[in-house]
Amino acid sequence: MSIRKGKNYRYGIHVPDRKYLTMDCPIENMPSPNKVYLNMSQHIGAPANPVVAVGDYVKKGQMVGEANGAVSANVFSSVSGTVVAVEDIVNGLGQKQKYVVVENDGKGEETFFNDISDYEPKTLVARIREAGIVGLGGAGFPTAVKLSPKTQLDTLIINGAECEPYLTCDYRLMLERTEDIVKGIKLVAKALNLNRIIVGIEANKPKAIEIFSAYPDFDVVVLKKQYPMGSEKHLIYATTGRKVPVMKMPFDVGVCVQNIKTVIACYEAIEKNIPLTEIVMTVSGNGITNPKNVKIAIGTPINDIIEYCGGKKDGVLKLIAGGPMMGKALISFTQYAKKTDSGLLLLVKGEASDSAPTNCINCGVCAKNCPMRLMPMYIEAYALSGDFKNAEKYGAMNCIECGSCAYNCPAKRALVQSISQSKIKIKELKQNGKL
Ligand code: SF4
Ligand code: SF4
Repeated sequence: MSIRKGKNYRYGIHVPDRKYLTMDCPIENMPSPNKVYLNMSQHIGAPANPVVAVGDYVKKGQMVGEANGAVSANVFSSVSGTVVAVEDIVNGLGQKQKYVVVENDGKGEETFFNDISDYEPKTLVARIREAGIVGLGGAGFPTAVKLSPKTQLDTLIINGAECEPYLTCDYRLMLERTEDIVKGIKLVAKALNLNRIIVGIEANKPKAIEIFSAYPDFDVVVLKKQYPMGSEKHLIYATTGRKVPVMKMPFDVGVCVQNIKTVIACYEAIEKNIPLTEIVMTVSGNGITNPKNVKIAIGTPINDIIEYCGGKKDGVLKLIAGGPMMGKALISFTQYAKKTDSGLLLLVKGEASDSAPTNCINCGVCAKNCPMRLMPMYIEAYALSGDFKNAEKYGAMNCIECGSCAYNCPAKRALVQSISQSKIKIKELKQNGKL
């Protein structure tokens, strides 16, 4: 047994975590909906290619979208039934994306992978790729790619920080599915061919700290409750003291970081032959009647999830997929649960602001709070004026989109949205040789 305190870092913010709304709510299995809408772009990388057509019968666990290249991910049906559409839908994020829609026959017929032939690292990684597993903490990066570093790593860090306010689904999984997590961690460590395993957990989860401290193979690190402790770079520093340089990745310092839900998905794919078809999310905020942690079929319409949680209350100001800091505000209820969704939040006055942005007053609060030590006000100003060269010069590409800058901005500037858009534009300009 090993337990120690993590290193602190300067900057970042302290936000009310509001986890009390759901942290004592055991995970409930929500019945599968009448229809699932399976997005072909639930991951970082190229969208999957639909491999079914309207009228096809599919089982739960059957592939409906095939990974399109190395950085992409397979998509599976989460119910059994008939494919009723393969079409572009403008979703709640305002993005037009390709979906396979399956009408549920309620029979729950299922298909599984065959047993794996051996436990060699390459076999494990191949199964994780086959199962369509991506970073389920929100990033959505294909896990098999992360588990195929070019150089040998020495440390696996399990991210049990769950530093986003409101979200408690990882915490509940740590309490309710401890053994599956432990098995998943060991399989991922085997895939990486390493022995050093660190489990980082924020200090506000004493029960989880106690549970994982009982495992002698793990070095449990108690992290200060500070946002964004769950960001890879900050977690690596807090648990190992290693600094990931600007524009570098965790593997550059010998580390791989994996999320709690991701290791469970790896365990299920390897030991139970189950592809990724379900996720656990926290439905919370004071705009929902019964906040809960729920296990749901991927592709479930959010209206069904809201109804399952007793419906929405009056006065909802903001609907968010994910956590309040890094999640995405939805512009409509035309949205379907994705692999990467850890939360669905319905926020009311006092939890979300409805005031319009005003001019920047150059107070510097955003720069003071930025954990990447950027000057968000300048990046935003350059991004809004179309000067992407200077936006890049001021570090737009180093922004981790944590939202710390916007949190206390007195002018309510939409800093993260502007910086995020500028990152897309910078990449595009560079690809075309124009920057
Ligand atoms: S916190 Fe807001 S008002 Fe203050 S400098 Fe940053 S963008 Fe401007
Ligand atoms: S500029 Fe980026 S990294 Fe810095 S606080 Fe804002 S969102 Fe976070």
